[in-house]
Parts: sequence; structure tokens; C-alpha cells
Amino acid sequence: MTPPTPYRAEDFTVILPVTDYVARFRDAERFAACCRACPNYGRSWGCPPFAKDPAETFADYRTALLVATKIIPETSDLPLQEAGRLIRPERIRLERQLLELERRTGGRAFSYVGSCLYCPEGSCTRPEGLPCRHPERVRPSLEACGFDIGRTTEELFGIPLLWGTDGKLPAYLTLVCALFHNGESPVWKL
Ligand code: SF4
Repeated sequence: MTPPTPYRAEDFTVILPVTDYVARFRDAERFAACCRACPNYGRSWGCPPFAKDPAETFADYRTALLVATKIIPETSDLPLQEAGRLIRPERIRLERQLLELERRTGGRAFSYVGSCLYCPEGSCTRPEGLPCRHPERVRPSLEACGFDIGRTTEELFGIPLLWGTDGKLPAYLTLVCALFHNGESPVWKL
């Protein structure tokens, strides 16, 4: 078995009213067009099109807790193919934490684009028109709900999104997730 790629991860949080986040950072039409061009469109229950307009869900909550996670490899010049091995353990940690906070606050979590963590790759039930096997765990990403993640990281966290060049990973990767809720501001670290 290949040993894990060494890295460190840092979480940063920002809290703002849901209405502000929607007004300043959502461009539903622009990002819906991006989603329609993606091969995953309509092929996973975590991806659009959604049964319910996400805007109806936003209206149920007052406060947005946004979490940006910087994943910093300890080795430079790693090949781009290493991205998945760096991101997966962080997604597992973050999605578990989001669902626990959702349970505690009655809020709604928004997780990540990419392949779903909860079934083997290529086995999603959606292409067959069957229900999701784990609806209690699957949450859409902020991108899939129309939010601009590049502007979110840059303007709210001061973290520019970096992209790989020449087949190599950038100096760090960035994930963004969120919890919309009505409770007292939840502490991110459990
Ligand atoms: S849990 Fe399984 S069925 Fe549900 S969205 Fe993920 S891959 Fe599809």
C-alpha cells in the first residue's frame, strides 16, 4: 500500500449573515452554467439539478459559518495526481465535523465538489434514477449552490486559490465548506 503523502492542514473560519453572503457572493446563473458543463451534472445526488431550489434552504437560516481549509504538502513539486490523496482524508474529517454541527444546531451543511465519499467510485444510484443510499450524509457544495469560491477565499479569508502548473501541485490546496444555522455561533473545533 502506498504511504500517505505528508501534509499539514489549517482551518480558518468566517461568520457572517446568510443574507450578506448570498447578496455578495452568489451568482446562481453563472455557476449553474459551469455545473451543466460538468460530466458529473445530474449523475450524483450531491450535484445539481436539485429537487429543491437552494435559495429556499438559505432563507431558513440566519448565520453562515464558513470554513476554509488550507492543505499544505510538506514536499514541493508533487504531481497533480497526488491532489486526491491529500484532499480525501481532509474531506472525511471536515464532512464528519459538519454533520455533527448540523446535528447539534439544526443547521444545514454545505460540503465539497468531487466524487462522493460514501459509495465506491462510479456506483452512484442517480444515473439509474434510484434514491441516494446515504441521504443523511450527502450535502451539496457551495459552488453547486451558486457561490463564488474564488472570491470567497480571496475576499473573506485572504487566501488566493492556487492552481497547479506544469503537472505539479501548487504550494497549497484550499477547500471551503459551510454550516448555515440559527443557533449561537457554533465552535468549529469539536
Ligand atoms: S451516497 Fe452513494 S448514492 Fe448517494 S450521492 Fe453518494 S454515491 Fe450517490
